[in-house]
Amino acid sequence: MSTKDYLEKDFYKVLGVPKDAGTAEIKKAYRKLAREYHPDANKGDAKAEERFKEISEAYDVLADEKRRKEYDEARTLFGNGGFRAPGGAGAGGFPFDLGDLFGQAGGPGQPPGGAGGIGDLFGGLFGRAGARQAPPRRGQDVESEVTLNFSDAVDGATVPIRLTSSEPCHHCNGTGAAAGTMPRACPTCSGTGQTSRNQGGFAFSEPCRDCKGRGLIVDDPCIVCHGSGRARSARTMQVRVPAGVQDGQRIRLKGKGAPGERGGPAGDLYVVVHVRPHPVFGRKGDNLTVTAPVTFPEAVLGAEITVPTLGGTPVTLKLPAGTKNGATLRVRGRGAARKDGSRGDLLVTVEVTVPKDLDPKALEALEAYRAATASVDPRAKLMEAAKGA
Ligand SMILES: [Zn+2]
Ligand SMILES: [Zn+2]
Repeated sequence: MSTKDYLEKDFYKVLGVPKDAGTAEIKKAYRKLAREYHPDANKGDAKAEERFKEISEAYDVLADEKRRKEYDEARTLFGNGGFRAPGGAGAGGFPFDLGDLFGQAGGPGQPPGGAGGIGDLFGGLFGRAGARQAPPRRGQDVESEVTLNFSDAVDGATVPIRLTSSEPCHHCNGTGAAAGTMPRACPTCSGTGQTSRNQGGFAFSEPCRDCKGRGLIVDDPCIVCHGSGRARSARTMQVRVPAGVQDGQRIRLKGKGAPGERGGPAGDLYVVVHVRPHPVFGRKGDNLTVTAPVTFPEAVLGAEITVPTLGGTPVTLKLPAGTKNGATLRVRGRGAARKDGSRGDLLVTVEVTVPKDLDPKALEALEAYRAATASVDPRAKLMEAAKGA
């Protein structure tokens, strides 16, 4: 129920009762009309449905002693065309400009303190129903990004994060209006920032499109914030990134977002983590990966090979005889940190290298190896399989 509704609708007329009607009389009139226009009794009759809604709305206000008083006061103050501007809004239009009222109430040199001004004004006039005494509002969630070194992501790190947030513009105290001017209440939503829409008997409320939910229209915008009433500010904050964080992960830091308004709690800060690739190591969940080149004899005969670990001492592991190219060996506990403090594994992938140049001695040995294995055709099985298919 908006102020505009109060001023435009004659609830007494809707119920067909005099202005001084008692509670019993109002109730009786309502019941009679409600029976007559009830949707169940008027299936498919849009007019009856509309009328039924009007009746219910009128009764809701007039049956409530407090709301009825507010309604009566509002109508006495502004009703009966008393404020109707000559040549202004026609029948059904809004009879006066809230902006004028707002300007008068604030007065020159008495800034009303931003959007709260209108709420305060109507709060005084209409009490609960008219008041848009804004409730405490939770601060907005803020999202930021950080790029970490590979090892910082594995071990965790404290990194500075630059945050830009918006706060009330200092130049205009958040009103968005140029010096010496005031925003006026949005005529579309009567300064509430919300418009309601009826659909299938349900009423929906949505942010007003004309004022984008602010409830205010700025005719002469502030030169600093261009009418938004908000100023960008930047702050830097140290954020502890937990060990084991992964590329693309979103970390939530409760209460580190934008500050709340009017005593509301702060919003949350979400940090999206990007991890720079490492020249040697990769990540697979909690495990680290590394590729270790081995020679053909090492793969065939088996060997002890030494591989690096991330930020730690190299580790020696046993390569079993007959290890295939691409096989993976596991070194336990040398991976990325987990939440519980344990660590994942280091996965070592074996890559058999093919040398381009061999010294004469090695070449001679290889030739001898070829001669020794000349009777073995490595593609015999392949040819057989292809033939059979
Ligand atoms: Zn609006
Ligand atoms: Zn400003």
